[in-house]
Amino acid sequence: MKKLFFDYTPAEISNILLDRGEKKFRINQLLDWVYKKSVISFYEMKNLPTSLREWLNENFTMMFEKAPYLVTAPNGDSMKFGFTLSDGAVIESVILKSRDRRTLCVSSQVGCALGCTFCETAKLGFIRNLSAGEIVMQLAYANNLLIKSEERITNIVFMGMGEALSNFENFVQALEIISGEEFFGIGRRKITVSTAGVLPNIQKLIDRNILVKLAISLNSSSDEERSAVMPINNRYPISELMAQVRKYTEFRGQPVTFEYVLIKGKNDSRDAADRLIKLFRGYPGKLNIIPLNDCTTEGLVRPEENFIDQFSKWIHDGGVTVTVRRSGGQEIDGACGQLAGKAKRGEI
Ligand code: SAH
Repeated sequence: MKKLFFDYTPAEISNILLDRGEKKFRINQLLDWVYKKSVISFYEMKNLPTSLREWLNENFTMMFEKAPYLVTAPNGDSMKFGFTLSDGAVIESVILKSRDRRTLCVSSQVGCALGCTFCETAKLGFIRNLSAGEIVMQLAYANNLLIKSEERITNIVFMGMGEALSNFENFVQALEIISGEEFFGIGRRKITVSTAGVLPNIQKLIDRNILVKLAISLNSSSDEERSAVMPINNRYPISELMAQVRKYTEFRGQPVTFEYVLIKGKNDSRDAADRLIKLFRGYPGKLNIIPLNDCTTEGLVRPEENFIDQFSKWIHDGGVTVTVRRSGGQEIDGACGQLAGKAKRGEI
C-alpha cells in the first residue's frame, strides 16, 4: 500500500530520497511543488525526471481514497469537503472566505469522544485519531483547489471534527508542517486551536513551548449547567479551566478567546450573563457567541435573533468584549458542530 506523503516530516522525506541517491536540488524541487505550489500529484511536477515521479507515485500518495464530495454554499463563501480515508472513514473540512482571508477549518479525529450534547460530531462517538498526514492533507487539498483562483489558505482553525488536543502528538507534528516557514508557512498567529478544555494537554502546550491561538469552548458559566451539556466538565470544572487558561495566557502573552454556543432556555438567561461577566472579571479575553446551529438533539434550539442581541448586550454592558459569530457554512451543514452529521445518516 502507498504511504501517505504527509505522514513523513520533510526531513524524513529528504533522507529517504538522499538514501535513494537523489540530489539535494531535486528534493528541494519536490518540496517546492508540494509546499509552495500546492500540487498534489507527482505527475504534475514537471521539472522532476519521469523515473523519480514514477517512483514517488508508486510509493507515496497525497490524495484521499476517493474523490472528495464538495458542497458549495449558494453565495460561494463557504465550501465543505468530505474526504474518504484509506479505511473508509469520512472526515469533513470547510473553507470559509471573508475579505482577504481564506480560512480552513480542519478535522483532527474521526468522530469525537467528548460527547457534548449540542454537537453532531459527538453523535458519531470516537472512531479514531487522524494521523498527522491526514490532518495536513486537508490543507494540501484545499490549497490545490484554490490554485484556479490563485489563492492559498491563509488561516487554520482546528474547529472541525474532533478534539485536536486529545490527538496531541499527531496534532503537533501536523502543526509543524502547517506552520514551518519552509513548508506551508502559515504563521502561528493565524492558527487557532479550539478545545473543550483538556487541561493536561493545555499544560503540555506550555511545557513544550507550542505557541498557537487558543479558543476555549466554554458554553456555560456554571458547573451544573456546563456539566449537563459538556461531560468533560465533570473531570475539569470551570475553576480549574480558568486557572489553566490563566497559565496559558501568561505563557503566550495574549488572552484566549472563549466560545459560547447560545442555546435557548439553557444558557441565555440574565443570570447566566451575570455569571459570565463575573467569570471575566480581571481577565482580558473576549467572548465569541455562536448561536446554536441546527442540531438533532431534542430540546436544543437557537434563541430568536432579538434574544441573541439582548444576551450580547448584557455581556457588553458588563464590560466584556463580545462578538456574535453567525458561523459560516450553515446552508451546507458545514458550520460549527455540524460536521459529518449527514454523512453518518447516509444523506450524502
Ligand atoms: N473539540 C473542539 C473543536 C470542535 S467544535 C472544541 O470543543 O472546541 C468547534 C466549536 O463549535 C466549539 O466551540 C463548539 O462549542 C461549537 N459547536 C459545537 N456544536 C455546535 C452547534 N450545534 N452550534 C454552534 N456551535 C457548535
